Amino acid sequence: PTSDIGLIGLAVMGQNLVLNMADHGFDVAVYNRTTSVMEDFIKEVEAEQPSASRVHGHAELADFVASIKCPRKIVLMVQSTAVASTDRDAVDKVTDQLEPLLQEGDLIIDGGNSNWNATIRREKEYAAKGIRFFGSGVSGGELGARFGPSLMPGGDPEAWESLKPIWEAIAAKVDRETGKPIERFDPSNPVTLEEGEPCTGYIGANGAGHYVKMVHNGIEYIDMQLICEAYFLMKQLIGMQPDEMSQVFARWNEGDLDSFLIEITTDILQQRDPTDPSRFFVDVVLDTAGQKGTGKWTSISALDMGIPANAMAEAVFARCLSAIKDERVAASEVLRGPAEAVDFGDQGEFIENIREALYCSKICAYAQGFQLMREAQNEFDWDLDFGQIAAMFRGGCIIRARFLQKITDAYAEDPKLANLLLNDYFNEAVNKGQAAWRKVVSLAVLNGVAVPAFASALAYFDSYRTATLPQNLLQAQRDYFGAHTYERVDRPRGEKFHVDWPEENRPQLTL
Ligand code: NDP
Repeated sequence: PTSDIGLIGLAVMGQNLVLNMADHGFDVAVYNRTTSVMEDFIKEVEAEQPSASRVHGHAELADFVASIKCPRKIVLMVQSTAVASTDRDAVDKVTDQLEPLLQEGDLIIDGGNSNWNATIRREKEYAAKGIRFFGSGVSGGELGARFGPSLMPGGDPEAWESLKPIWEAIAAKVDRETGKPIERFDPSNPVTLEEGEPCTGYIGANGAGHYVKMVHNGIEYIDMQLICEAYFLMKQLIGMQPDEMSQVFARWNEGDLDSFLIEITTDILQQRDPTDPSRFFVDVVLDTAGQKGTGKWTSISALDMGIPANAMAEAVFARCLSAIKDERVAASEVLRGPAEAVDFGDQGEFIENIREALYCSKICAYAQGFQLMREAQNEFDWDLDFGQIAAMFRGGCIIRARFLQKITDAYAEDPKLANLLLNDYFNEAVNKGQAAWRKVVSLAVLNGVAVPAFASALAYFDSYRTATLPQNLLQAQRDYFGAHTYERVDRPRGEKFHVDWPEENRPQLTL
């Protein structure tokens, strides 16, 4: 055997990860269900890549397995469709085919976007057969996979030790002092571990890596939605053109909002339509968003565990509302908004208010994401290091941002921090921005411009900082119609009471 690692699944992510590993000096065996895909890839690599001699194609699965050094490490980058833990998809099919060819102690790493429930099931199921099954989130899309993704591995800690040298080598790197990503898109000169801190690290047992990757995607949904709402306010209320907005986003990218998503938004807004350069590209893109499911999974998990991740769920619903285009077009002919426009005042000041609203909302969204992971660690018996997770998000992945250094610092100060909002830096940031945030949400509402993520993040903030919410009345209602009992403010928590509501006060049933 000559290869350090094997990879199955040569679609876009698999191919790029292979090249990344080869650039870092690892010999990689590759296999794909459809052999011609593997052959085409090998031809392309031989023609174009300096590291071609380190990529070895195999048409037969048995040859592929035999070519890898023991204990074998085999990465799966195949389509994942399982949602429930019992669903079996391509990941199971390939693992079942590999099983008779593997030896005790060999390691399978699922690098796809698998549901964490399926990973928990697989880890247990394959451990019983002597195979160590590992789930690792991979973020950063095609370019990340090629030049440095953020990698979120979960499974047996011993298995991690054997994977660690490769994962640390190929992961994105950030500057050890500033936490800023080091980006270099040069295959013959990849960023090394000596140059920067890798955006990977052991996350936890079984499905922990895939869970954290899923929450990353949930945060990605809300981050994108918040940027879209800022854009929409500038478009609808101020009437700005895309190139003018691009300049605003470019400015924002120099401050607290400095991030990959703001950067690409800056680029997108100045792009012209390739078929008609007199128009802006963004103006010809249909306003219906697609989704592959990880945002939905994040929201379902939040609901299952009773965690108020309302802004994250709102971002998923915003995509759903965008998708019912025909219905919206028909409704726009019938339903009217406010009769009169409400003035936003000075344009420059209003744009700065939008920036502050975006930053405050973003802080709440991340607070929700981290609360969700905190609850998941109790639910699934993981031991998560939130500072390390934030540190891993600083480079390589879609949500990479300057802001993540602040989260890393917050958890370094207090690893048991209950909510990001309680950290001094974030508390002060929201305090400073809240007047602007409230003004932006109010003006949006008064003018009939939907800003669901800005508004729900604000509702989260206001609810979270309020000692007494109106759910005293709600619990009384539940006791009235369903004898669900209530607790009292003047008695210890946990003691339940019930009022025998007088018969004449009960609502009459009408048939
Ligand atoms: P796809 O999700 O499109 O998967 C295609 C690959 O899966 C092909 O190699 C295909 O082989 C293989 N495959 C499908 N079914 C089977 C099967 N039954 N047996 C064997 N092989 C099978 O590829 P991507 O590269 O887009 O994604 C790979 C994984 O990475 C997915 O889980 C995805 O969610 C995740 N991911 C994707 C990102 C992206 O930006 N695309 C970003 C981060 C993660 P064949 O050629 O024979 O059809």
